[in-house]
Amino acid sequence: MIRAFLKRVFLVDLFEGLRVTFRNQKPKYIYTEQYPAQRPKVAERYRGAPRLNLNPETGEPLCIGCNLCALACPESLIVMTSIRDEKTKRKTMNTFLFDTSRCMFCGLCEEACPSDALELTQDFELATYTREGQIWDRKMMEEGPKPTRYKC
Ligand code: SF4
Ligand code: SF4
Repeated sequence: MIRAFLKRVFLVDLFEGLRVTFRNQKPKYIYTEQYPAQRPKVAERYRGAPRLNLNPETGEPLCIGCNLCALACPESLIVMTSIRDEKTKRKTMNTFLFDTSRCMFCGLCEEACPSDALELTQDFELATYTREGQIWDRKMMEEGPKPTRYKC
């Protein structure tokens, strides 16, 4: 009781906290990233900008228009439409909208995709000047963002 009282009077907790803070402020512990001149390496399992992958051999979309990604998304932020090809009788994706401003990058859509078409890539630069710019259409989803690359 008295010990707790004295600790409070002499601000012991405050000084202990400050000791920890200053101990970790030694110049040898300080690390400054020179972004955007030098781009940081993100973790291997980082989930960033979404991408709709194309078949590397044919350049055709891998998406089969199944809508599973939209159904799996807890935010319901994916809106896609598909049409059925009369010749092949297969569904193909027609339009695709992805609202990146509402995405929490949980990866559930990516997990649900049966054709590895939808991927959350390691691209981390998602800032835009408008809210509308955060809604990506099919073209943007296939080509990906093109952020400005700065040089030293
Ligand atoms: S990462 Fe999660 S929140 Fe974002 S679109 Fe996919 S399922 Fe939805
Ligand atoms: S991205 Fe994948 S899950 Fe979404 S509609 Fe296309 S194939 Fe289906």
